Amino acid sequence: GLARAGETNKVLTTCAYCGVGCQMWLHVKDGRVVKVTGVENAVPNRGRLCVKGRFGYDFIHSPDRLTVPLIKENGTFREASWDEALDHVAGRFAQILRAHGPRSLAGLSSARVTNEENYLMQKLVRTGFKSNNIDHCARLCHASTVAGLAASFGSGAMTNSIAEMEDADAFIVIGSNTTEAHPVLSTFVKRAVIHNGAELVVIDPRRIPLVAHAAVWLRQRPGTDIAVINGLMHVIIRENLADEPFIAERCENYDALQKVVASYTPERVEALSGIPAEDLIRAARIYGRAGKAMILYAMGITQHSCGTDNVKSLGNLAMLTGNVGRLSTGVNPLRGQNNVQGACDMGALPNVFPGYQVVTDGGIRSKFEAFWKAPLDAEVGLALTEMLPAAAEGRIKGLFILGENPVVSDPDSHHVSDALKNLGFLVVQDIFLTETGRLADVVLPAACFAEKDGTFTNTERRVQRVRKAVEPPGQARADWRILTDLANRMGLGWRYDSPESIFEEIAALTPSYGGISYKRLERESLQWPCPSADHPGTLFLHKDRFTRGKGVFFPVEHQDPFELPDDAYPMILTTGRLLYQYHTRTMTGRCEGVNALAPLAEVELNPSDATRLQLVHGDRARLTTRRGSITVHVQVTERVKAGVVFMPFHYAEAAANILTVPALDPVAKIPEFKVCAVRVEKES
Ligand code: SF4
Repeated sequence: GLARAGETNKVLTTCAYCGVGCQMWLHVKDGRVVKVTGVENAVPNRGRLCVKGRFGYDFIHSPDRLTVPLIKENGTFREASWDEALDHVAGRFAQILRAHGPRSLAGLSSARVTNEENYLMQKLVRTGFKSNNIDHCARLCHASTVAGLAASFGSGAMTNSIAEMEDADAFIVIGSNTTEAHPVLSTFVKRAVIHNGAELVVIDPRRIPLVAHAAVWLRQRPGTDIAVINGLMHVIIRENLADEPFIAERCENYDALQKVVASYTPERVEALSGIPAEDLIRAARIYGRAGKAMILYAMGITQHSCGTDNVKSLGNLAMLTGNVGRLSTGVNPLRGQNNVQGACDMGALPNVFPGYQVVTDGGIRSKFEAFWKAPLDAEVGLALTEMLPAAAEGRIKGLFILGENPVVSDPDSHHVSDALKNLGFLVVQDIFLTETGRLADVVLPAACFAEKDGTFTNTERRVQRVRKAVEPPGQARADWRILTDLANRMGLGWRYDSPESIFEEIAALTPSYGGISYKRLERESLQWPCPSADHPGTLFLHKDRFTRGKGVFFPVEHQDPFELPDDAYPMILTTGRLLYQYHTRTMTGRCEGVNALAPLAEVELNPSDATRLQLVHGDRARLTTRRGSITVHVQVTERVKAGVVFMPFHYAEAAANILTVPALDPVAKIPEFKVCAVRVEKES
């Protein structure tokens, strides 16, 4: 409950930064959050918090918070009442719908808001906008996971759980800078290595902090992951480390896999990836011989034009060694944002309703039509990465963005801004006036996680409560309330009076959430699938059988990245995260202590390249790609290898995404943030 004047009260909730979903106490005094501490003995974090969770809460009470609805008139914002703003929004959306038809509107939901709010957002688009033009930023992080693992195993989620990590015998961590992006989760890996003797293989182009704990570090050229994984499988098969009984009993298409990996000898992989053949063999032996081995990966795998194939390759590797369907094994995508798993689960995706029930299936559609009392579009909607080009071409006229900042987060920022400016009507609902919000026609002020109730689902499929600790500033309102009010102005007749009432509808329509209720969540968090009220939830997936029946091997060949270095752009640019910042810094940029640790955008450059380019630590360099150019400070470091530069994507004033390439994975439509060609020059 809320604290009385002068008293300090503690409210149990879930961290709003990353997908680990740490349980925390918000200490509240006089209506303000004054301290955050971890919850001892609670899963998943057992009392631990990282610097963001522990100290990154200043943003809640920042004077920059949006406190009143804004309507743009003659290029400037003026304050408006909720009634005026919502009437205006509903009226303009209805107008566009009448004039241009359902496919001219689209919505972007948010991995930052609760499950209940994501559920309402996709329902608003599907029943109010009358199309499946709904997506969210999972498109930019794990769309390839959802597509790849669903094809291989039948479910696109993390197979195993964080607590199991301490008991693993070996790990492959590939394309995940775990200590910086999922700090508390990385402590479980480190404990397994340091205290329990687990062997760690790190596969990463950068010398990330986990390399210090690795038995083997494979430093591949960016964009050569498939070759490396095929090479590991080649060695495992050659040395008879494949789990033949598991393959025979539980998998299909093994012959095709064998044929493809036969040509990926360690020597060929060395030529493709730059990894010494003997290191590849050592890594293959560690993973192949371990009793229980876990694969952990993140955006280094997914953010490629071959992202879906990268994910399928990891599925192949795990099945080859029987490392699926048991404790402390599996293929474990680490989801980046606090509720990106939940936003996917809730159907904030253009091809599926809540619970990954496909929109093109007539039977499923009828179920939702009956429940929602509305006709539904049978066609798959536009993905985020298709919506912006559609806006640029004038096919999308109206867009509703909930809690996202695509101007900084999406590839090729200049094009994103141009596309948004081309819209007839843009609504942005957020807690701060972001770079994207500035382009909007109407801005709606939302409550942040500490100001509302609901649930988030963490990276290990664990549904956890979010609880209101303080009041929102000014007239800001919880997203679920705003969405309900807007829907009712659009004639949808919604009757939700609390997040719990929304959750009951979710459980009724989503089989994997069917047994979860607020009542149960008061006692314990639950991992889906949890199909019935007496089901305990699921620690790891694919026990005895895969979700789809048999696991499928998908043999894949190495593919070059979309853009390779050439004479004009001779180096490779790769992007990623820093520990002290979060995403587009909307929140961490407003937390003094945290921001001070990484206030400036810096590019990482290998010493040999620095010498060649006559750059020293602290100099300013110009980075140019075919999309644009930025100026940043230089950090000379061995973390990157020669020929490769690394830029964090957090900073709007030196936005890495001005440089990145909008090349997409053909299946998942995720952009290739991890590789493009760049020229680096000294800026005088
Ligand atoms: Fe929050 Fe993630 Fe840090 Fe945990 S590890 S405190 S969830 S940012």
